[in-house]
Amino acid sequence: MAIPDFRNEPFTDFSQPENAEAMRHALESVRAEFDKTYPLLIGGERITTEQTIASRNPAKPDEVVGRTASATVELANRAIAAATESFATWRQVAPEERAQYIFKAAAELRRRKFEMAAWLVYEVSKSWAEADGDVAEAIDFCEFYAREMLRLAGPQPVYQLPGERDELHYIPLGAGVSIPPWNFACAIMVGITVAPIVAGNTVVLKPASTAPIIAAKFVEILEQVGLPPGVVNYLPGPGSSVGDALVDHPQTRFIAFTGSKEVGLRIFERAARHQPGQKWLKRTVLEMGGKDTIVVDETADLDVAADGVVSSAFGFQGQKCSACSRVVAVEQVYDDLLAKVVERTQKITVSDPSQPDTFMGAVIDEKAFDKIRSYIDIGKKEGQLVLGGETHGEGYFVSPTIFSNIAPEAKLSQEEIFGPVLAFMKASNYDDALDIANNTEYGLTGGVFTRDTDRMDRARNEFHVGNLYFNRKITGAMVGAHPFGGFNMSGTDSKAGGPDYLLLFLQAKSIAEKV
Ligand code: NAD
Repeated sequence: MAIPDFRNEPFTDFSQPENAEAMRHALESVRAEFDKTYPLLIGGERITTEQTIASRNPAKPDEVVGRTASATVELANRAIAAATESFATWRQVAPEERAQYIFKAAAELRRRKFEMAAWLVYEVSKSWAEADGDVAEAIDFCEFYAREMLRLAGPQPVYQLPGERDELHYIPLGAGVSIPPWNFACAIMVGITVAPIVAGNTVVLKPASTAPIIAAKFVEILEQVGLPPGVVNYLPGPGSSVGDALVDHPQTRFIAFTGSKEVGLRIFERAARHQPGQKWLKRTVLEMGGKDTIVVDETADLDVAADGVVSSAFGFQGQKCSACSRVVAVEQVYDDLLAKVVERTQKITVSDPSQPDTFMGAVIDEKAFDKIRSYIDIGKKEGQLVLGGETHGEGYFVSPTIFSNIAPEAKLSQEEIFGPVLAFMKASNYDDALDIANNTEYGLTGGVFTRDTDRMDRARNEFHVGNLYFNRKITGAMVGAHPFGGFNMSGTDSKAGGPDYLLLFLQAKSIAEKV
């Protein structure tokens, strides 16, 4: 059967009564499943443990969305052994057949789109639209990587030497570990799991401890579409012990990680150490933090710029690696832009995201809540609090917060806060603005609002970010159109959702035959 061209999964229009009704219904039925316990899955075997991980609703922390078993180092070793054993047969399965499992998973995700979105509303406090976007991206990753595998299957074009038949084939790496963050708890978790699998590898999936239930649901889907046992293994557990054990294991062939700079660096270092009995250099795909900047010059349409800033800074409570946390405006427009951003931000609703009109829910957990509050205190010393700074409600709610007059070297300008805190900085001109934009150790996303095409060209050359946007928001990268990944301390620039991505989970075998 011919496979249609890739197209992005459309977002749900919740202004349509039938969609709003379907979402309300999904929220109710998911709620009825709260507080269930999900076992580990190792080599097809369900394993319960004495210790469990409780996943709480950040908007109502007393509410337990679900619990999972919690792995130990011994179980981590078993999971790598199971993935290694399954690799022997999975690597022999034809790429076309592997792709079919992932197409079926996409279809199942699409069928259960509202339900999966509802889990995200409760588990990570996403608004309806953010949750829907997260699931749509997960579907996109499945559809895109399955097609990519079909493209990379079979012999690749190489130069033919006279008297020889010369071939190049991509083959999988082995058994590896996928470690997603909680913030795109569906999309990134699905992406870094299905990409290695469709490429012929086997995976131990260690979900984030604040978002393990959505991962359990996806693993159920993979089982339901008939993925053979051991190809995916579900292993929630503490990052510090279980994460280290998975990374250190001599039979681990690759690690696909998305998360903070600190953990990324730790994995990079540990994975580089040769362990007794280890036969390879571990492949690491490490996507890390950001401190993302929007530059606004005096030629920009300030209303469009203010819209772009507000949605980039405060969507999902600023907890996107791509979120705008710094605005650098040239002095001629600084005050006007700030006023427009403040005016729009004042209209943002912060409340329980199970309600349809909520724009911002709660931040993920108490640790994040405390960290954000401590940066708000720092901001009060480093600049002027213009808006927000409050916390409220029974959950981890932080109002959208704006500081002005932040210096380029200030903590608020340099350190990733990962919350709804935006720093305004003044530049004397466009040159100065670009210098400030490049002055962090990160290089993930960046945006420029300008009408000057020469300045756009300068940003094309000089703004050192993996994902650059002009005259639009800097969040919401679309699979296929905006391959995603950053420079410098933002990681290995793996470009998720792009044409190079599957190669990270493959190795090339060159074969020459004398004829
Ligand atoms: P985190 O680093 O705290 O955790 C990420 C994952 O690593 C979790 O599953 C965690 O359990 C696991 N982990 C913790 N310690 C470990 C260890 N020693 N060994 C192995 N695994 C371990 O990050 P987070 O709070 O889940 O996510 C937020 C971070 O992710 C932010 O810094 C954000 O910028 C970043 N992020 C980056 C991208 C990107 O594409 N660059 C995308 C999304 C999020």
